[in-house]
Amino acid sequence: MKPASPISLTINGQHALVREGATLLDAARSLGIVIPTLCHIPLLPARPVCRVCLVHVEHDGAVGLRTACSTAAEEGMEVRTEAEEAVKARLFVLELLLADHPADCVPNERGSRCELHLLARRYNLSGGRFDRHRAPFPIDDSHPFIRLDLNRCILCRRCVRACGEIQGHHVLGIAERGDRSLVIADDGRSLGRSTCVSCGECVAYCPTGALVERLPAWPEGAGALEAVTTICPYCGCGCQLDLQVQAGRVIKVGSNFDGPANKGSLCAKGRFGYQFIHSPDRLKAPLIREGHGFREATWEEALDLVARRLLEIRACHGPDAVGVVSSAKATNEENYLLQKLARAVLGTNNVDNCARLCHAPTGTALLAAFGGPAATNSFEDLEQAQALLVVGSNTTEQHPIAALPMKRLVERGIPLIVVDPRQIELARLATVHLAIRPGTDLAVLNGMAHVILGEGLWDQGFVHERTEGFEEMRAAVRRYPPEVAAPIAGVDGDLLCRAARLYASRRPSSIYYTMGVTQHTSGHQTVLALANLALLTGNLGKPGAGLNPLRGQNNVQGACDMGALPNALPGYQSLEDAEVRAKFEAAWGREIPQRPGLALTQIFGGEPRQPIRGLYLVGENALLTEPDMTTTEAVLRGLDFLVVQDLFLTETAKLAHVVLPAASFAEKDGTFTNTERRVQRVRRAVEPPGQAMADWQIVCALSRRLGYPMAYAHPREIMAEIARLVPIYGGISYERLEAAGLQWPCPRPDHPGTPILYTRRFPRGRARFHPVDWLPPAEVPDADFPLVLTSGRTLFQYHTGTMSRRSEGLNLLEPEPFVEVSRVDAQRVGVSEGQVAAVVTRRGRILARVRVEEGVPPGVIFTTFHFAEAPANRLTNPALDPIALIPEFKVCAARLERVAGGTGAVPTCCG
Ligand code: SF4
Repeated sequence: MKPASPISLTINGQHALVREGATLLDAARSLGIVIPTLCHIPLLPARPVCRVCLVHVEHDGAVGLRTACSTAAEEGMEVRTEAEEAVKARLFVLELLLADHPADCVPNERGSRCELHLLARRYNLSGGRFDRHRAPFPIDDSHPFIRLDLNRCILCRRCVRACGEIQGHHVLGIAERGDRSLVIADDGRSLGRSTCVSCGECVAYCPTGALVERLPAWPEGAGALEAVTTICPYCGCGCQLDLQVQAGRVIKVGSNFDGPANKGSLCAKGRFGYQFIHSPDRLKAPLIREGHGFREATWEEALDLVARRLLEIRACHGPDAVGVVSSAKATNEENYLLQKLARAVLGTNNVDNCARLCHAPTGTALLAAFGGPAATNSFEDLEQAQALLVVGSNTTEQHPIAALPMKRLVERGIPLIVVDPRQIELARLATVHLAIRPGTDLAVLNGMAHVILGEGLWDQGFVHERTEGFEEMRAAVRRYPPEVAAPIAGVDGDLLCRAARLYASRRPSSIYYTMGVTQHTSGHQTVLALANLALLTGNLGKPGAGLNPLRGQNNVQGACDMGALPNALPGYQSLEDAEVRAKFEAAWGREIPQRPGLALTQIFGGEPRQPIRGLYLVGENALLTEPDMTTTEAVLRGLDFLVVQDLFLTETAKLAHVVLPAASFAEKDGTFTNTERRVQRVRRAVEPPGQAMADWQIVCALSRRLGYPMAYAHPREIMAEIARLVPIYGGISYERLEAAGLQWPCPRPDHPGTPILYTRRFPRGRARFHPVDWLPPAEVPDADFPLVLTSGRTLFQYHTGTMSRRSEGLNLLEPEPFVEVSRVDAQRVGVSEGQVAAVVTRRGRILARVRVEEGVPPGVIFTTFHFAEAPANRLTNPALDPIALIPEFKVCAARLERVAGGTGAVPTCCG
């Protein structure tokens, strides 16, 4: 289709050329002309409310005032933004607004700007002709993070639209009419008692300070705020944000509307979960074990001890007796150095990261199916999908920003199919919800493929031209007609057929999935089944299509990209390939072992093949994150030498012989790679506390003592080395990353990056179908343990709580361990909402507060792993997927027990 010709118009006598559909506001901005607005949100269609953007327009003989935000530019228009009658109308509006606005509402050094007063200042308005006509409102201080002062509200509706149309929460609204109108939460309750999820989008868009963050008292003379743009340290969405810094402290987090993944939006953790940076219990000096406790040490003493002990263990037991656990919270550069330290310095491939616990099957299966181990598409092009299949992902709680385009699709009427045992928020929005029994995803996916093949809904052209292995896959899928697949999963067969038809017949269709798919003994096979579906329907290499794992931690994608894996060199280059090894050996000047190392789960599962005796563990609270905590603890305690490098004295660090204090994301430079393969800059905003140092600096200092100097003055030099050795990062440099970041593969300095993979070819040539069969989970319910326990994250806490539990506000919102149970099971066990109950499996017992949830099916209970006092991984099954070596976190047999007097605080009880 021929692109439409650009539209030509003049604004204030200057010539503008804009695309069809552009507004007068867009046209003015393209020329750098500022038209004031108070209600406009660039991401949303215009709904003129404030009428401050009135401009004078002459066109086709007609003359008049128009709202610039909502008037489409037309050929030949003549626009004057400061024409006398336009300014007069604007001033009239401003005077009306000022009449009801407190005079002290001015922009201040804390960054709470008041756009109304900025405008008044621009037009030399100090008050107005009108008297106040609204009665004063009480200030609403009921919310842990947000203060609502309706006296400052100008009813621009930005907060209402941001809450509803950007975040999809629809908590805020407008009540009453005329001059009695006001912003309300839900049905008019206080913000703190409303269904607000604390994303802070309303704060980000409020122009006047009616909705602001609740901040501690402001020190006199503290100086102006400085905004440092960086990346959120929590989940893998990769949200860009601005740390607002004053006097060396992060005061608050602001939206950065240029963030390519999030466009200014954040979730509660990203916007309000930053208190851990300045927590008083940050580690400030190296610690050395002394008896049952620790004593502070100098860096020299601590690092000398670490180097000596690691070298001794290597000398006595060989290089494979030591291991390195790298960190999905550390930067790409730090992960690169950590695996280099393991391979080139210590001489072992025993290096892994926590991707082993979340998306290892994504890596193994997508490499097998496509030849590439990552998400195929970007959040932005999801908006073009005509159907969306979400499998095993509670996206609104675990990746809240990734859920935003999903919710927008639903609002546009695009079918959403959700496969998940629980009635999560997305399931409530879904066209079809397949509420499967935990661990039966693969049967459902094969059943869907059966329907797609049987009804001729597959893309024969794509399959013929770009794939192989079709017949073997078809033979396997024949074993899963809906009448077989649906009973395995415990879902309605007609619903399964409908899901298949919706996904296959409305193209492009996109698939998103997370740990509900991968954390099973059949995780690898289930990801292959998802790949089969995408290939069968030709849903790859196009906008709005694809197969997209949502990565768990902020830089788990990057940790894998950097080769913090026991079987791959950086950039997924094969350890077995002699040429590849030779390339790294030449660059590093050391021989690289060829034998793959131990995976995380083999190290902590006590792999008998080659027990680890010395472990260097960075940024990972393994005691709480590994399955079967009893075994993990025994392995950690049994080590000859354990060194832990972290921000805090975590439960794991307490078991170490040496603890090294590390800098947080806010205290260092580097890069993170998000779930879209987008490499983005992390920037130092404040100094680390005490003697803490960035992980990359600690690795360099340690490496020197191990006899292998690593001389990097800045992480940009490490990235330059990465670009030389890792083809998918070949074109990436700090200079190029300054703006929006780059999505790999980016092989050359002039390459623009790759938002969508496999548009023309797959890295392995043709993509491969795989025949896959369903197997039951390793542990299924029985008479002693009649329930299925499944676990995951929640919205207001994160992983082992190391960061999020240092936020008072997040703790108020999610204060204690809980177990969700269906009404049926609660009655059967004799527990009720709010009571404390015991969750018991073959491996242990924890106590948690009972939540009776309609969305939890009978036979299933759900808990989280955020609370050290009730560690879910005391319960979980360490059975591994044989290929990806991921544990079956998502299914184990359990029972719920009443406990005596179970109504007070949740006591700690493990055993
Ligand atoms: Fe941070 Fe993830 Fe929330 Fe974005 S969605 S703000 S990356 S936790």
